[in-house]
Amino acid sequence: MPMGNPITQNPVTARGVLDAVKRGQELTKAHVDYFVRGVVDGSIPNYQAAAFLMAVRMGGMSDRETAFLTQAMTNSGRCLDLSGVRGVTVDKHSTGGISDGTSFIVAPLVATYGLRVPMMSGRGLGHTGGTLDKLEAIPGFRTSLAEEEVVESLNKVGIAIFGQTSEIAPADKIFYGLRDVTETVDSIPLIAASIMSKKLAEGASGLVMNVTTGSGAFMNQLDEAKKLAETMVSIGKQSGRRASSVITSMDQPLGPYVGNALEIRQAIEVLTGVTHRYKNFISVSVELAAHLLVHGGIYTFDQMEGARNDLRAKLASGAALKVFRDMVEAQGGDVSAIEDPRRLPQASKTIDVLATGSGYVGAINTTHIGLASVYLGAGRETVDTKIDPAVGIEVFKFVGDRVVENEPLARLYVNDASRLEEVQTTIQGAYTLSHKEVSPGELILETIR
Ligand code: URA
Repeated sequence: MPMGNPITQNPVTARGVLDAVKRGQELTKAHVDYFVRGVVDGSIPNYQAAAFLMAVRMGGMSDRETAFLTQAMTNSGRCLDLSGVRGVTVDKHSTGGISDGTSFIVAPLVATYGLRVPMMSGRGLGHTGGTLDKLEAIPGFRTSLAEEEVVESLNKVGIAIFGQTSEIAPADKIFYGLRDVTETVDSIPLIAASIMSKKLAEGASGLVMNVTTGSGAFMNQLDEAKKLAETMVSIGKQSGRRASSVITSMDQPLGPYVGNALEIRQAIEVLTGVTHRYKNFISVSVELAAHLLVHGGIYTFDQMEGARNDLRAKLASGAALKVFRDMVEAQGGDVSAIEDPRRLPQASKTIDVLATGSGYVGAINTTHIGLASVYLGAGRETVDTKIDPAVGIEVFKFVGDRVVENEPLARLYVNDASRLEEVQTTIQGAYTLSHKEVSPGELILETIR
């Protein structure tokens, strides 16, 4: 809705709200609260909710209206009670990508500074992986925690990573279902309100949002990613949180491993201090962690370089690995799989995907790498698909690398070979080779704070 239009004088009714959004008048908090409450208690039917979503999709919303919508969605259910947590709470969110398991580094890393990380996370969506699915690759790991367990873990270990219950932001569940069938998912205010309503309900006082952009991201255009990042930071601040956002490139997988157990293995290697092959993955993790150290009052934005250096040294020391291990133990996981990642689920065979030509890697369609991993069984094609934790892809060639025909581009970790040919052609087709040398683009594109 255009900013500056007069606050609506319409009655606080469903039709009053719909009439205001139709005319581009700015909604008041009372209108938004009334509408969201009505959608959740069923007094406002789905057809009016769907009309509202389409009007927002077409006309947009001001930052103020988006903050009202987010707060009403947060208040539609329960918020976590973190009053028993000793210390400052912070969290990160990522809009998703491929090999994007930075949570496993960022959360334990900032916990070594005494910050507490209540990380309410999601499952894989489309071509992207999900934090909960990855953690459940660790035998016995429980992602469903009672509130008291979250608080206990935060006080004892420093971090807890868990799924959301149906009591958190029920309005989001209803709106999301309607957005899915009314072609209104791709609306920046609706995406921002959806993500932030859950983050606000989780209760962390400082938030950093990693908004990904490029060929493997949902927001593949930088200007859209920037708008989403700005909207989420604005909502966070208007809701009394310390908030910032980092826009990062997903024009290639962030790390070499794609798949659930494989990404846990990647995290363990990085937490053990291995840096070879993980340059980009570590850089984004360190950047996000540095923002959280600022939100936690340990550094200021002027001291970011010092924070980054300190975080890299901490990572090399193995201190964050201990926090990760303690979290696995606290959440019922088999810690021997952290000590020896060969105890994580293993695929029955590996098959290399070979390059069909020679040259330099000019571009990677990263969404296609994610889809290939879904075809192997690492992700879901429908909500009821059972994922295979062991399978996935190890990427060997990244943007700028020299490739010779028949050299492996990637290695597949396979249990079910029924779609092998499709997987291989999808990966080969994801690579664009160039005759000229190519330099990879920037990884960290912008910061919004
Ligand atoms: N993730 C969410 O939680 N909501 C959206 O609308 C999009 C991504």
